[in-house]
Amino acid sequence: MNRRVIFGLALVAVGLLVFFLVTSLNRSPSSPAPSQPEYVIALDAGHGGKDPGSSVDGVTEKDINLAIVKRLQTLVDEQEDMGAFLTRTVDVFVPLEERISRAEAAGATIFISVHANSFTDPGVHGVEAWVDDTRPDGDPSWVLAAMVVGAVSQSTGASDRGVHSQELYLHHTKMPAISIEVGYMTNPEERELLLDPDYHQKIAEGILAGLRQFIDWTESTPE
Ligand SMILES: [Zn+2]
Repeated sequence: MNRRVIFGLALVAVGLLVFFLVTSLNRSPSSPAPSQPEYVIALDAGHGGKDPGSSVDGVTEKDINLAIVKRLQTLVDEQEDMGAFLTRTVDVFVPLEERISRAEAAGATIFISVHANSFTDPGVHGVEAWVDDTRPDGDPSWVLAAMVVGAVSQSTGASDRGVHSQELYLHHTKMPAISIEVGYMTNPEERELLLDPDYHQKIAEGILAGLRQFIDWTESTPE
């Protein structure tokens, strides 16, 4: 190597050194990674992709569920102590157990699955909440279910059909977990409402109100 090449290389080296020094100084030491909110709420839009859920008169459950969950996501993320985690954000099939494992991996502490109901009798309407039947009496899921279904009934004016239980995939987690059936697609009036974005907003506001009641309750209840 002749002197000119060595000088050139040295110049490049010094240039690089200065560049790295400047960029590292510019990186503010006071901007830590965004911290996890106190309550990560898993919002699970029922069904998706190849699994449409119920389908009545061209109205498909999976779409209604996702529309409501997206509104609820916005409301939850506006809360200082809450953050939303969605088990699906688009029209995609996610196996039931994976919904739980995704939520747990995201650090979720409360799990809410959103569904729309259907029944053979078109006269049946209203909101109901479901809890997995393996949850014991003292499990907070029962309280969460009662609070959410009550608050949704209040915000929408729909009748409160209470809390029910059956075997659900929600038994794969220990966190408080419920499924909320926001209305009956088989009831003509309620089906109409379930297509209305304003009604989705009322449902989302109701679920949030129930969540807030539940968090207040857990904070005021000794372990
Ligand atoms: Zn469903």
